[in-house]
Amino acid sequence: MQVSKSNKLANVCYDIRGPVLKHAKRLEEEGHRILKLNIGNPAPFGFEAPEEILQDVIRNLPTAQGYSDSKGLFSARKAVMQYYQQKQVEGVTIEDIYLGNGVSELIVMAMQALLNNGDEVLIPAPDYPLWTAAVALSGGKPVHYLCDEQAGWFPDIADMRAKITPNTKALVLINPNNPTGAVYSREVLQDIVELARQHNLVIFSDEIYDKILYDEAVHISTASLAPDVLCLTFNGLSKSYRVAGFRSGWVAISGPKHKAQSYIEGLDILANMRLCANVPSQHAIQTALGGYQSINDLVLPNGRLLEQRNRAWELLNDIPGVSCVKPMGALYAFPKIDPKVCPIHNDEKFVLDLLLSEKLLIVQGTAFNWPWPDHFRVVTLPRVDDLEQAIGRIGNFLKGYSQ
Ligand code: PLP
Repeated sequence: MQVSKSNKLANVCYDIRGPVLKHAKRLEEEGHRILKLNIGNPAPFGFEAPEEILQDVIRNLPTAQGYSDSKGLFSARKAVMQYYQQKQVEGVTIEDIYLGNGVSELIVMAMQALLNNGDEVLIPAPDYPLWTAAVALSGGKPVHYLCDEQAGWFPDIADMRAKITPNTKALVLINPNNPTGAVYSREVLQDIVELARQHNLVIFSDEIYDKILYDEAVHISTASLAPDVLCLTFNGLSKSYRVAGFRSGWVAISGPKHKAQSYIEGLDILANMRLCANVPSQHAIQTALGGYQSINDLVLPNGRLLEQRNRAWELLNDIPGVSCVKPMGALYAFPKIDPKVCPIHNDEKFVLDLLLSEKLLIVQGTAFNWPWPDHFRVVTLPRVDDLEQAIGRIGNFLKGYSQ
């Protein structure tokens, strides 16, 4: 008898680690060296965590043997609370903060606690696809609003508004954005908050890249503009503090919590069911947020991340038929392949063909719920030499490629 996956997974996909990755693993087993520009995992590219974080986790290991409170250690949640005070988010208390095994776990919990079958959630296209997957897994209907490449990938507010129905429960913002690198202006955020206000929508604001900002970009926490709207703000240590493997994240609830007691009870049930987040990693939070912010050095002029962003962006735009909006934050570029120059009908096949021919792994745009097969994402984490090699291979490959 065949054992089948549940119907709940019928519309759930997470193609960043999808079928093409299996081919890459097979090639590696056969002895090929694959240049990997597919996953935003800083450590393998030589971005190491601040030493003080590692030392504090090691030092606290003996006291981290038991479960913690379901929401997390008091000291870590206090540090997160202070973080939101600095970011001008009003009224976040220690009780409003939940620590999780990465933001990923909390995204799934937040959706599972909120959605009934058929409830709609507005999600950006392109998105970080866990958001779409989590809504689908929870019985909800992901409804994608377009981000406008011509407008620096800012959300198209008219499209967002047009997609609100009586079933819309919430909207998702990813700022700074994965995969586009957009960092939203105060005006855009205010417009989105106003939509949420008018239509009684919960705001989920994924701000995991809030410290990875280039040039003159400034990050504004959505919740700081929305004291009267229920906001869940997500963040963690994976990116800015380069400890993705620690699986350490948090969500902070702000706004009219008295109107969301039942939802909060739902979150508590789910937090209790998973007992607690990994306790040794919780010890990293206070040190990270309170310590020297070494990420700032990486995004300054001459900083490694900024140099790599600059070079990747230049090289991508040098490829005939490829154009790329300059990423203002995060760790990615999301270029377009002009269909008139190189028509691609199936971008997963394109990415697989590129892998097989050039031994280079990137991710197709449709994996980010982008509706057309004309984009791809690269991470800007590799050193400049590797970026030059990788993007050079993309240029060569596209010259002779047709589908
Ligand atoms: N949100 C965004 C926008 C991401 O890009 C990622 C990881 O790439 C996550 C959430 C997941 O982060 P975590 O490692 O905290 O689970």
